Amino acid sequence: MKLLLGVDVGGTKIGVGLGDSSGKILGSSYRDNRDTDPNEMLPWIVSEANRLTAEAGVKVSDVAAFGISAPFPADAARGIMVRPPNNPHWRNVAILDYLRDNLKIDGCFENDANCGALAEWFFGAGRGCKDFIYLTMSTGIGGGIIASGNLVRGGKTLSAGELGHICIELNGRQCSCGMKGCYEAYCGGRAIANRMAQELKDQPDSMIMKLAAEPGKPDMRTLEAAYRANDPYAVALWQEMSLRNAQAIGLFINAFNPQRIVLGTLAWAVGDIFIDPILKELPRFCWKELLDVCEIVPSELKRDISSYAGIAAALNYLKENGKI
Ligand SMILES: [Zn+2]
Repeated sequence: MKLLLGVDVGGTKIGVGLGDSSGKILGSSYRDNRDTDPNEMLPWIVSEANRLTAEAGVKVSDVAAFGISAPFPADAARGIMVRPPNNPHWRNVAILDYLRDNLKIDGCFENDANCGALAEWFFGAGRGCKDFIYLTMSTGIGGGIIASGNLVRGGKTLSAGELGHICIELNGRQCSCGMKGCYEAYCGGRAIANRMAQELKDQPDSMIMKLAAEPGKPDMRTLEAAYRANDPYAVALWQEMSLRNAQAIGLFINAFNPQRIVLGTLAWAVGDIFIDPILKELPRFCWKELLDVCEIVPSELKRDISSYAGIAAALNYLKENGKI
């Protein structure tokens, strides 16, 4: 059994967790990360690592490795957070070197979608698979690919797995990344919310606008409620979303022949009405032989996935370096 430290740097929260290689969480600590200064947060990570290990009756030097889960854009090879989209004061923060120097143990830096894939692979719905894909399915769509028993990182910029930004429509909907027709522009939670607000802005009496928790700002929860109530606009949008999800997932099935595809946030929050329509459309987008051997399932770790993200990255680091 190896002790592992996980550091999860999110847009709204930052967390430190102590766990072991069996997936047991021994302690964790979270705090708000909105509008924070990294010069304050980096020492906090170190002090929490010291506190959590002391409370568990061990020392930081007993920990085999730490793993950092961080959003892109980042310089993953050097462990530098370059320009995280939701943390305006975090610019070119060399977090990997800082933690190596201050914790005096080895560790790694991984993008958050890859960490999600590693967490499901080691501790969740991807256990036992040699070939498996994880899709975040949240405000945006991130992906992580495990192929032949290894995390796929790609070449120099280590950016493989940007599955939300494959183009599925020529000259299609504008994506926040700058391209047009990305998968995320059709199925990402933020893109769908913006689309509803735009298309229904002159229809305050529509069911979606009436159900919106915040006036004029419907979200995925609003769409789900209106879809369940058979609102025609919601039903049409839901069917389009399901078709686009099937189109993209079909591409991944033919490209990677995975045993399992694990879907994050929306899939477990919404339930069967999210996955079932995708399964119905999938035969149009991939070969039957590959579809027959691929399961599409929701995340097992659900909202706890962030607690496992950094710990899973640390465990994978040990695995890649032949230490487990
Ligand atoms: Zn895009």
